Amino acid sequence: MMRKKLSVVVSVYNEEQALPLFYETAKPILDGLSWDYEILFVNDGSRDGSLGFLQELTLHDNRVKLVSFSRNFGHEAAMIAGIDYASGDAIVCMDADLQHPPACLPEIVERLEEGCGVITMVRTRNESAGIVKNITSAGFYWLINTLSDVKFEANASDFFAVSRQAADVLRGNYREKVRFLRGYVQNIGFSRATIAYEARERAAGESKYSIRKLFAFSINTILCFSNLPLKLGIYAGGMAAVMGIAVMIYTLCTRRGAPSGYATIVILNCFMFAVLFLIVGIIGEYMAILFNELKDRPIYIVEVTRNLEDKGEG
Ligand code: UDP
Ligand code: MG
Repeated sequence: MMRKKLSVVVSVYNEEQALPLFYETAKPILDGLSWDYEILFVNDGSRDGSLGFLQELTLHDNRVKLVSFSRNFGHEAAMIAGIDYASGDAIVCMDADLQHPPACLPEIVERLEEGCGVITMVRTRNESAGIVKNITSAGFYWLINTLSDVKFEANASDFFAVSRQAADVLRGNYREKVRFLRGYVQNIGFSRATIAYEARERAAGESKYSIRKLFAFSINTILCFSNLPLKLGIYAGGMAAVMGIAVMIYTLCTRRGAPSGYATIVILNCFMFAVLFLIVGIIGEYMAILFNELKDRPIYIVEVTRNLEDKGEG
């Protein structure tokens, strides 16, 4: 029987310092597995020496594959490209900075052997993320789980494994332009397992996610996975109508002449406009997402591949 193959997808953006460490750490662990393997690096438009290092590496190790983008498309796009190009019986996505310890790989393979389709790696402790990141992350998961019908695991990370069958679902469907890969992975079903791991400090280099990027990302995710904000308009409209009827009845019954309610009118006006603009803004956000989907631009554009057949864009 042929040995099964594990594809390890590693997204790389300006990681020239971390890459040699990653390779040296992961290589012996992968060599010790019962499965065959490939390491598929996806270079997401790095501007440092990452691409050079990886190209060099592919010459010496034919288990190392490389997909290199024409520019930076983001971490999610890199993971999707990795899943598209991977040829293994199962795929693990992980970061290049060793925050996702390769030491977990044997346990992942064990679960895969047992027939798991989706393995979520859950971090038990995040040393490097500050208190602000941890609190905002908790708030985000609370909000999205309240608003959306699909459920999200709070500490799930971008470290996960999927069987070939689950990967095919991600390859074929879920090609949204505005997206949250982790959300899909957690909601496509299949038999699932979770493995806890301890998130380490970054091995080298610095984090590419700023709070601002994360905030924009969170808003998009909430809008992509919930229609509830769109219904705010209906609720607000209903409330305003009830209030209006009450005031009308009150005015008719008391039959006062010229009312002296200048302040009330100004306050009510401001309040109503605030609600109105908020709702228009929310609709605008959804329109922006629709617009992006409609344009149907590629999720990523590939410039260079090594040890792979070329497929172009996706
Ligand atoms: N990354 C990427 N494209 C980007 C930003 C990041 O491919 O635009 C990669 C990065 O090289 C790393 C992983 O995604 O392997 C996670 O990024 P980072 O470690 O900066 O995020 P953090 O762990 O701090 O959340
Ligand atoms: Mg990291």
